[in-house]
Amino acid sequence: MKIRNPRTGKPDHEIAPLDEAAVAAEAARLRVGQTGWLAKTPEQRGEILLQWADAIEAHLGAIIPALTDDTGRGGISKIEAAGVPGQIRRWANSAPALIASAQPSGEPTSVPTITTSTRLVPYSLVGVISPWNFPMTLALIDAIPALMAGSAVLIKPSEVTPRFIRPLMETVRNTPELASILSIIEGDGATGAAMIAHVDYVCFTGSVATGRKVGEAAAKAFIPASLELGGKDPMIILPDAEPEKAASVALRASIVNTGQACQSIERVYVARAIAEPFLDSLVNQADAVRLNHPDIAEGHIGPFIFEKQAQIAQHQIDQAVEQGATVRAGGEVENLDGGLYLRPTVLTGVSAEMDIIREENFGPVIPVTIYDDVEEAIGLANDSQFGLSAAVIGSDIAKAEAVASRLQAGAVSINDGSLTSMIWEAEKSSFGYSGLGASRMGESGLMRFFRKQALIRQSGEAAVIDAFAEQNF
Ligand code: NAD
Repeated sequence: MKIRNPRTGKPDHEIAPLDEAAVAAEAARLRVGQTGWLAKTPEQRGEILLQWADAIEAHLGAIIPALTDDTGRGGISKIEAAGVPGQIRRWANSAPALIASAQPSGEPTSVPTITTSTRLVPYSLVGVISPWNFPMTLALIDAIPALMAGSAVLIKPSEVTPRFIRPLMETVRNTPELASILSIIEGDGATGAAMIAHVDYVCFTGSVATGRKVGEAAAKAFIPASLELGGKDPMIILPDAEPEKAASVALRASIVNTGQACQSIERVYVARAIAEPFLDSLVNQADAVRLNHPDIAEGHIGPFIFEKQAQIAQHQIDQAVEQGATVRAGGEVENLDGGLYLRPTVLTGVSAEMDIIREENFGPVIPVTIYDDVEEAIGLANDSQFGLSAAVIGSDIAKAEAVASRLQAGAVSINDGSLTSMIWEAEKSSFGYSGLGASRMGESGLMRFFRKQALIRQSGEAAVIDAFAEQNF
């Protein structure tokens, strides 16, 4: 399978997707390794993962260039790869205490002679299927806590961005005891689909359409699925917001990483009282954004990673314009030396029925709707099949929080945007089509990989059958 380079538009890499038989063999190998992994204490598992974190750090010189070729972006690839050792260390250090505190022993019950103890039993093999927008982070975000739980993990990153897999697998092979329980494989959608029948739990991050297929396949295989899907995050800007600052937050939260982030702001609702200065500032700031072209080390936003996504973004913009929207900045995907770039695109005159307001765009596009009444803004923000996250900007914090608490979304940033990309401690659910399953953030990110086993101990006399004889009642 030939892999396109997002900066040149040309194929410069190849992978050989694993077929069903190879997936089955890899899953069987990992299951064998998992028995020994489970026999270790959480502290011992943590020590091995700390060695892995060091191995990744030592290997960043090979991983970062591969990730940069995958995504066509420089700085964010550095942040992404360099952040992984920290994520591993966080779980390696925090998981043992969390696991211990969730396994109480000898607890009293309503029957004085009976006590209970709880054991946590991890799923043996966790499968991870991940997307192309943050290839390394999203391949590992579920895998690290699953490993700490005692599971073996089989990961299949997106076929759009597979170059980082080989250097990352080298760090796995260089870490004794990890290679038998962790595998990152190359493959496409068929490889992902084949995995579901061979794992005990599937973590999927990607589109709603594929997430639905994964959810259905998981139901057939009778395994749990964590589905982390798309979003159409709204930002409400209240009348007491400072227009220029609000414009700066809206711009960054919509266009960072070329808008290719699930928690990207994709719709802005601004109060009429400040709409004019807000829009003037937004357009000025949008026009000042520079592309990372021709020099990847200069500018703000890179090319689309996935060619098809550029077409989707352009189609939604063109359709909105045909339906009456006005382009105030950007608006045209440009082909520069084979890479597909879109300058920050500000649209006004949009309406709630347009695809640009209803469907995920995943590009640096900011459709702005002006509202008169905050109730109207809340209604418009909640008028979506998605519910991943949202944002509210306003000077009066109590009022901003009151609006935030009425939004149908799993996380709401207040006086900032897209904070879920930075803050991983707070548990959050995905509402609507944005996902299903326990939170991947916070403690639940680890605890979801356990089933609970109750050991119920009788220290008195066990009841005899006469206790249930009819004549005794
Ligand atoms: P996608 O659904 O096209 O692909 C995701 C993965 O699924 C890939 O690895 C792909 O090979 C695999 N796949 C394809 N068909 C499959 C099948 N039938 N069975 C099993 N696996 C299959 O998504 P994408 O385009 O790579 O990613 C972009 C999407 O991901 C966006 O919608 C974005 O919002 C979403 N996303 C969500 C989050 C989140 O945390 N909620 C984070 C990042 C991205």
